Order: sequence, then C-alpha cells, then structure tokens
Amino acid sequence: MTTRSEELAANLRSVQDEIASFHPKLIVVTKTYPISDVEILKDLGVTDFGENRSDEGLKKSEQVTGNWHYQGEIQSKKIKEILSWATCIHSLDNLTHAEKIARTAGENAVKQDLFLQLSLDGNPERGGLVESELFTLAEKVADLSAINLLGIMSVPPVDLEPAAAFAVTSQVHQRFIKLFPGSPYLSAGMSGDYLIALEHGATHIRVGSKILGARRYD
Ligand SMILES: *Cc1c(COP(=O)(O)O)cnc(C)c1O
Repeated sequence: MTTRSEELAANLRSVQDEIASFHPKLIVVTKTYPISDVEILKDLGVTDFGENRSDEGLKKSEQVTGNWHYQGEIQSKKIKEILSWATCIHSLDNLTHAEKIARTAGENAVKQDLFLQLSLDGNPERGGLVESELFTLAEKVADLSAINLLGIMSVPPVDLEPAAAFAVTSQVHQRFIKLFPGSPYLSAGMSGDYLIALEHGATHIRVGSKILGARRYD
C-alpha cells in the first residue's frame, strides 16, 4: 500500500522533473486539501503554497510556515486579512484594491509582492483586466511605494486552447516588460497546462491537482 506521503512525493517528483530545465517557481496549490497534506509537502521541501480563500489560507499559514500565495478573487473587506498571511497576491485587478493594499502594507511597514491579473477575454466573472486596462493600472501601481509589482498573472479562458492563450499572454508579457522592466515575472500555468505556459515564458506556475490528486469540492 502506498501512503499519502509516498503518493505526494512521487507526484511532486514527476512535476519537478518535468519543469526542472525551466527553473520556475513552483507554487503548490493546496486549496481544499487538508493541513496534513501541506505538512507532508513542507517535509518534502515545498516552500510555496497557494490558496484561493483567505480564511483557509490564514488557517493553514498559521500551522505551516512558508511563502503563502493568494490567487483568489479579492474583496475589499478581506484585504487586511489577506495581507496578514499572504506573502504574494496574484489576482489584483483594480485600483481601489491596489490603494487599500498599499495603505495596509504601509501601516504594517512592509512592501507587498503582487501580480496584476490579465484577462484575455474581458470576462468579469473570471477576474483580470484586458491589456490596455492592465497597463493603465500598472502605471498607477508602480507609484505606490508599499507595493512591489512582480509582473502579470494569467488564467486562460476556458474556451481557448492553452497554446493559443499562452501565445497571446506571452505577447502581452513582452510588451509589459518593455514598459515595466522592474516587474519581469509571469505567473501562468496550472495542472493541465504548465509545460505550455513555461514554453511561453512563465516564471511562476501554480499547480494543485497534478500533485495532490482530484479535488473533491471546489
Ligand atoms: C485552483 C487554481 C490553480 C491550481 O489548479 P490545478 O488545476 O489544481 O493545478 C491555479 N491557479 C488558480 C488561479 C486556481 O484557482
């Protein structure tokens, strides 16, 4: 019988082997999985964990130290809480939230790492901004001294082939880093498409089910 620890070790190893030549930052997305899995991953050497809900991230981060990433939808009233545990935010897409994050980080005397979320189709339900809006927001965020803008994050629309989606993402990314050379990173790629994302310049990948197994609820 395989233990959970052996299972996670094997899954993690196979992902690590596949991505090794790209040298990305691997964020293991632990949303919906129990804290016991996070503890196993930490023992296996994982340093970066991702969550979509602030209450869940807060609780887990109190039990397992590491770099905790928030990639869920941002609600204004949750910003203080998110900043209390999230090392890095991947899903910023509006100026009001940016200003509140900067204010809160300033009060805490820290600089908050974050990505601005790109939307390829402008669907507001999935979050993110289309390129022109994203660049406008980036200019404003660049002026907020308590924010450290790392780059852009992208989740492909469901109806687009990953290769096509990441090709477009890559073009936007190239234009972005010309304007914002201090924010060169690209957070893109999940379990089903991280190799394609890496081939298109992803520097941070967010992988859950490929390592942890199918989620029972979402
Ligand atoms: C859930 C989620 C992931 C991880 O998804 P998997 O398919 O389980 O790898 C990555 N990024 C975001 C924004 C997510 O919501």
